[in-house]
Amino acid sequence: MTTGPSRHRRTRRGLLRLLLALGVVGILAAGAVALVPRLLSPGPRPLFQMPVACGETWQLGTYPGHDDFDVDFFPTEGESWGRPVLASAAGTVTVAGINGSLGGRTPQDPDGPRGRGGGYWVKIDHGGRWETQYLHLLEPPLVSEGQRVEQGEQIGRLGSTGNSGAPHLHYEQRRGWAKVETWFDGRPSGITHDDAEYTVRITSRNCPD
Ligand SMILES: [Zn+2]
Repeated sequence: MTTGPSRHRRTRRGLLRLLLALGVVGILAAGAVALVPRLLSPGPRPLFQMPVACGETWQLGTYPGHDDFDVDFFPTEGESWGRPVLASAAGTVTVAGINGSLGGRTPQDPDGPRGRGGGYWVKIDHGGRWETQYLHLLEPPLVSEGQRVEQGEQIGRLGSTGNSGAPHLHYEQRRGWAKVETWFDGRPSGITHDDAEYTVRITSRNCPD
């Protein structure tokens, strides 16, 4: 057997190294705990405006089974098909494409085959982990992924692609991964849970400066 003082020293040095390593891991973990929430926590809510033309009054609504905070936009006057859909705030387009399938509902054939999902849609990243989504557009979006858009810029035309019964705009605001109540011009829309049918009329303040 060669147990002796030298072997003992090696063991003690090993223990010291282990403790040091644990200390470093602990410091890194503490740093991550402090930093990650700051990286993930959303910034202040942008001053979102309605995704439709300045001065127009639209009916905003939801119904059972829609999903909490989802909003359907219908104009209170004029033709729905092809109405301009505008960016609620400045940002970067992260999606401009097709969600699900388009179906065949057009102004010429409004009762054509129903598609699935959102149809032609756009998603905009407004920074601070805030996002808006615009679904059921009539035609391919007028913007492309990676494009910078200004508040009020037209991103598409209102339609009925995807799983849509009649021409309307399905719209969402998201904070991080969660849908939240939509706010327009600094005020909550009042459309929250989807446990009952609910509509409200609001006039767009998505106006040029
Ligand atoms: Zn909807």
